Amino acid sequence: MSARLLKGKEVSDALVTQLSQEMAKLNFQPKLVFIRVGDDPASVAYVRGKNRLAEQIGICSLVNALPQETKQAELMELIAELNADDSVDGILVQLPLPEHLDSEPILEAIDPRKDVDGFHPMNVGRLWTGQEGLVPCTPAGLIRIMDHYQLPIEGRHVVIIGRSNLVGKPAAALFLRRHATVSLAHSRTRNLAALVKQADIIVAAVGRQALITPEMVKPAAVVLDVGISRVDGKLVGDVHPDVAEVAAHLTPMPGGTGRVTVAMLMQNTLQAAIVRRASG
Ligand code: NAP
Repeated sequence: MSARLLKGKEVSDALVTQLSQEMAKLNFQPKLVFIRVGDDPASVAYVRGKNRLAEQIGICSLVNALPQETKQAELMELIAELNADDSVDGILVQLPLPEHLDSEPILEAIDPRKDVDGFHPMNVGRLWTGQEGLVPCTPAGLIRIMDHYQLPIEGRHVVIIGRSNLVGKPAAALFLRRHATVSLAHSRTRNLAALVKQADIIVAAVGRQALITPEMVKPAAVVLDVGISRVDGKLVGDVHPDVAEVAAHLTPMPGGTGRVTVAMLMQNTLQAAIVRRASG
């Protein structure tokens, strides 16, 4: 194996240490509220992991586990209550929601100042116009990984595969902000292999096992594997394991981008708390 592994734990541990130091300086305890609807096992596990790290850092963290049959109006009412509650700094609705619920108005109902996932259109607009705001955690984590390992971004060609609001699009905005040249690929991109081959930095955010093969990767490329699929009970990324023979740097899966995502949520919660409380 030639690629240097960009380990999520190392990046996350450094961020947690930094956040714990910042927490020690606060004269209040930030509060983060999770809303989970139904018992989707992945959602249960994600919320448990986020809740655990919040508690470890000293953030007051509450989980609202609502039944599968929760109605849209009930969820909207809960969000309105949490918006109005001055002690609440962050509100996170765990996605995906059950099919009978329409996630768009629900996410838009969250006070943008408490929108620790960074999905509210106000925060999306701020991101694209270069203003301060809350940024989605997974893409923010990719930049954090690059910075932690002192990998340059400016002037580099970043090819992002996947154009979701959750990962691909905000990742494009963040890399652009850092002066990269960005290509955003998706399911209708023609000749994906040729495009990826040009990349200095590859972000694979699709959810398809082994989409990125060694032949597609330029030697010395940095490869950030975001995709997650479950194959025969095991979690695998979008990047074929043999890419490690070609790339210079690679996030492992598991143990890469996911861990940093959770730490970035804690950073967003702290940021939300500090900014909102300072603005009164
Ligand atoms: P998504 O909303 O399903 O988006 C997937 C994207 O991949 C779409 O833009 C789609 O294109 C594109 N795509 C599908 N097949 C493709 C192909 N053959 N070639 C090129 N592009 C293709 O998923 P998401 O929410 O962005 O999540 C992406 C993956 O990241 C999932 O596996 C998810 O589990 C994982 N994830 C990981 C983390 C983490 O922390 N590591 C966090 C969030 C999500 P179209 O737009 O044309 O349909």
